[in-house]
Amino acid sequence: MISENIKTRLLEGAVLAAQIKQEVQTEIARMIETTGYRPCLAVVRVGDDPASAVYVRGKVKTSEEIGMRSEHHALPESTTTAELLDLVSTLNQRDDVDGLLVQLPLPKAIDEATIIEAIDPAKDVDGFHPISVGKLAQGRPVFVPCTPAGIIELLDYNSIEIRGANACVVGRSQIVGRPMAQLLLQRDATVTICHSRTRDLAAVTRQADLLVVAIGRAGMIGREHIKPGAVVIDVGMNRVSDEAEVRRLFGDAAEKRLEVVAKRGATLVGDVNPAEAMEVAGMFTPVPGGVGLLTVAMLMKNTLKAAKLRQH
Ligand code: NAP
Repeated sequence: MISENIKTRLLEGAVLAAQIKQEVQTEIARMIETTGYRPCLAVVRVGDDPASAVYVRGKVKTSEEIGMRSEHHALPESTTTAELLDLVSTLNQRDDVDGLLVQLPLPKAIDEATIIEAIDPAKDVDGFHPISVGKLAQGRPVFVPCTPAGIIELLDYNSIEIRGANACVVGRSQIVGRPMAQLLLQRDATVTICHSRTRDLAAVTRQADLLVVAIGRAGMIGREHIKPGAVVIDVGMNRVSDEAEVRRLFGDAAEKRLEVVAKRGATLVGDVNPAEAMEVAGMFTPVPGGVGLLTVAMLMKNTLKAAKLRQH
């Protein structure tokens, strides 16, 4: 038995995400009033990946809700690297576009790195361009990738001390793990990065006061990985439909999730086993309802920043 006394607090993202969007909305209204200019986010999507279509719809819808202009460029699966480069170049040159993002993953035939490098760093609101990555590594961030930036906001909002904390990030992707580790380091945490080649993962993660998990495997992190009382941030977004798996992951809350599976075919789960995290962690982000909600809010914040830096 790891602990009998821990009462886990859920770190929900909804209130903070709404607050960030409200702040951006207010600033956009002020910008329009004083300069007559409305910031614009251009989103490019290639192919038919259903998850990407959902994410892009969410980004476009949120832009419009907060008074930003948005453009959705949907290109067919057969698009070539050269054709996509042409569109990126046009959007780079257009003065009425402030933020430009190309939704990943791209179809295999397109060279992703070439496309990311073609985006004007002044419009790189995803923060994936090598210049953005380099500036973040130097501790001079301009555009920070939205998911890790949202996690820092969530930690601050909940007055969780980062300075001096033993932080562990599981996952080293360009989108989440690496920038997350950089941001925590910048805020004076002692940072360990784990990945698929880490020996005895649980022994490493169990040292962490602050554990951020971005792996992409449903419920992989269990009670043996978590230090009692730790803050656990679950970035994972996985779809689960198997009944036994739902029961393993959700414990007492399984019936409710099985209703979701019956209705929608699957339920969302993170990379952390939520039933086990609720036994051990001091604080834990739910999936859905945690980190995911902040990602789009931070994209809006980055786009407003781009518009301001471009001096509209
Ligand atoms: P990714 O690019 O696939 O990277 C996964 C990372 O996990 C890699 O660094 C990999 O190590 C590591 N890993 C894989 N198996 C492991 C294991 N058994 N033990 C330890 N580490 C392991 O994934 P990602 O883009 O970072 O996304 C991670 C998750 O976050 C996914 O579920 C994704 O859907 C979700 N996500 C959510 C949001 C949001 O807004 N909430 C945003 C982005 C991503 P190697 O480097 O050694 O291969």
